Amino acid sequence: MTLLRSGSATDTGLVRSVNQDLAVETGTLFAVADGMGGHAGGEVAARLAVDTLTVAFGAKPSGTGLSEAVNEANRVVFEHSMDNPELRGMGTTMTAAALVNEDNRDVIALVNVGDSRSYRYHEGELTQITVDHSLAEEMVRSGEISESEAAVHPHRHILTRALGVSDDVAVDLWRIQPTRGDRFLLCSDGLTNELDAPQIAEVLSTVPDPQVAADLLVRAARTHGGSDNITAVVVDVVLDDEDSGADVADDGAPAVAAVAAVAADFRTAADEPVADQVPGDDDIVEVLPGPEPLKPKFRDRSRARRKARRAARGRRLITVRTLLFVVLVGAIVFGAYFAVRWYDTNAYYVQVNNNELMIYHGRVGGGVLYKPVEVERTGVTTADIPAYAVPGLVTGIQEDSLKAAQAYVAGLVATQHQATCAQNPFAPACTTPTTVVPPPGVTTTTKAP
Ligand code: MN
Repeated sequence: MTLLRSGSATDTGLVRSVNQDLAVETGTLFAVADGMGGHAGGEVAARLAVDTLTVAFGAKPSGTGLSEAVNEANRVVFEHSMDNPELRGMGTTMTAAALVNEDNRDVIALVNVGDSRSYRYHEGELTQITVDHSLAEEMVRSGEISESEAAVHPHRHILTRALGVSDDVAVDLWRIQPTRGDRFLLCSDGLTNELDAPQIAEVLSTVPDPQVAADLLVRAARTHGGSDNITAVVVDVVLDDEDSGADVADDGAPAVAAVAAVAADFRTAADEPVADQVPGDDDIVEVLPGPEPLKPKFRDRSRARRKARRAARGRRLITVRTLLFVVLVGAIVFGAYFAVRWYDTNAYYVQVNNNELMIYHGRVGGGVLYKPVEVERTGVTTADIPAYAVPGLVTGIQEDSLKAAQAYVAGLVATQHQATCAQNPFAPACTTPTTVVPPPGVTTTTKAP
């Protein structure tokens, strides 16, 4: 009986704004899908593919069933893309591993389409099982470029196979005998672009817990640049076919570990991957449409330059933002200052001071930013104006302008004058001296009071 234990982790990375990777862990089925396509395309493709795969494999849990499930997933994604113009051109990679029982033997069936990868860590050695379906990989196999050239080749992300791009896709299938202690790693290219095989092996050989190992791998890829979405699924073979119940109880003594030597991975002739065929031009599909998803994929991978660029962008952004902030705050402060000051100074008032009516520039009671200033002593006393106006003038009577303030005072004086003269026409103030032009010889006198 074979028993598996797994862990998985995914991260958007440092450059992308959304995570179009998807990981699956169901106990017997494990998969990584790396969606691609602008707008929501990549996420939709990965989700559709993973859901279809899970259901289809559940209906036929075998090696062939897993391969057919990938074909079914391809069909569903492709049809959905045809039915929805806004999703046209979306696609996804798919690498999946499943525990199946064939001919009374437990087998790990492993399938792949695209440039996500599956590795097997076996007896201290890490082996890449899958073959990337990328243009760069094809060029390596045809001898045009070397393996190390492929790792930095500008076309390394152009896929020659993906799910959802056409109505049919060739699926690579492997069958591997699980051996206790084996670890399988399924991951998206976001992990393998940042970490090389020795770095991956380092984590797998030192971190026993599959969940912790997956977390650590994703975090390491993020630290190394994180230029793409990163996803890792680690699947450990805890027990294999050779283990009995006794071995489970006796945890420290793996009596049958030596069987591992026999358990080399094997492929059946019928399931030989089609990957070795060099595809014709018709098979080469550029799966990444539009400039949006292409841009980050083609960026200069030199870590130093990338860092410098990011740092420069960060600095510039902060400077511009800070400047805008300062200018905005300055404008608000100045605006408020001038508004208040304008309010304070755009007014005059009349107030009684020592029985005399005075005109001040400013607001009654004083403004916030402007202390009232005396601008005119009118010479008018409280005796010269109607008594009813005095209490208001003790507090202060606000006017819009100096002229208005003067007119107000003059009005009060005139009112009082009229009232006085109405009561006593002979009051001194009412007897306006009149100058009569005297006829010649006549002595005129001015009426004395
Ligand atoms: Mn990717």
